[in-house]
Amino acid sequence: MQTTLTDSAEVAADFLNSGGVVAFPTETVYGLGAGICHPEAIRKVFRAKGRPGDNPLIVHIYNLEQLADVAAEINGNARVLIERFFPGPLTLVLKKNPLVPDSVTAGLESVGVRCPANLVAREFLSYCSCPVAAPSANLSGLPSATSWESVYEDLNGKIDCVLRGKPSAIGLESTIVECSGSVPILLRAGAITLEQLQAVLPEIRVHVITDAEEAPKSPGLKYPHYAPKASILFCSPNESVLIEPSSAYIGLSEPPEGVSLFRICLNLEEYGRELFSFFRHCDAQGIKVIYCELPANCGLGRAIRDRLLRASGRH
Ligand code: AMP
Ligand code: MG
Repeated sequence: MQTTLTDSAEVAADFLNSGGVVAFPTETVYGLGAGICHPEAIRKVFRAKGRPGDNPLIVHIYNLEQLADVAAEINGNARVLIERFFPGPLTLVLKKNPLVPDSVTAGLESVGVRCPANLVAREFLSYCSCPVAAPSANLSGLPSATSWESVYEDLNGKIDCVLRGKPSAIGLESTIVECSGSVPILLRAGAITLEQLQAVLPEIRVHVITDAEEAPKSPGLKYPHYAPKASILFCSPNESVLIEPSSAYIGLSEPPEGVSLFRICLNLEEYGRELFSFFRHCDAQGIKVIYCELPANCGLGRAIRDRLLRASGRH
């Protein structure tokens, strides 16, 4: 299959509206979209990524009018979060409208919904004739793609079109809050922080994944994720570690002595934005070990920590 590169949201939406699969930029990471009214295109998304069929897709909407086509019920907690954080990097898990195909939600009774804020994403969605189901636009298990070049590297020849935009401003996947029950639950940390959520919904709980969980609340959380080919090891500021040959470092502090490639980030925002592209860069350079500084488990640090721990295989 030929993959068309375009800078036109309208051209990209034409591909989607005729049953194609299209990668597009968002503020979190690039998404790989199919119209929820095109079941064959949904199957193509799973095939192109090599994504397990029991890992549901997030449905992207342009405006609140489309929300009724996707969700069957929007309770008070969901309304509070929509009012405060839409459009933005927040996914709500809500009771699903029967119109949404089971292949999108992996047979769950709930659906993940997000309304992105990125202007190119919004323009693209405005031309799409139905809501767009989209996981991250990377091969399953690899770090998410935060630039169109990374999408192209993973998916050239497997998808119909890439809508080129700028690198993702946040660089980490959306915060996910399960909102279909009476108590909201944070399923995945992201740029909308737990503290921001607590400010409007103090009763929110944090989901803890256990191996014994029979029906995971968010099926995707049980799969290995975000992992570069290099091994991930952790180091604390000023700690002297025995450096493996061909190693790299990313974090907020000075790198340990002896690493051949490093990225010192000015703040957590930069750390989150650079993390996945740094992983991919390290793989391209043949780096074997990436030392990472684990930020404290608060604010944006919670999301970075989560991705680092899962990339290292410890979650
Ligand atoms: P990705 O778009 O690749 O970041 O993956 C989407 C994430 O959203 C996965 O971890 C899914 O398990 C999660 N997700 C999507 N829909 C639902 C849902 N209905 N309930 C719980 N988690 C969901
Ligand atoms: Mg993903």
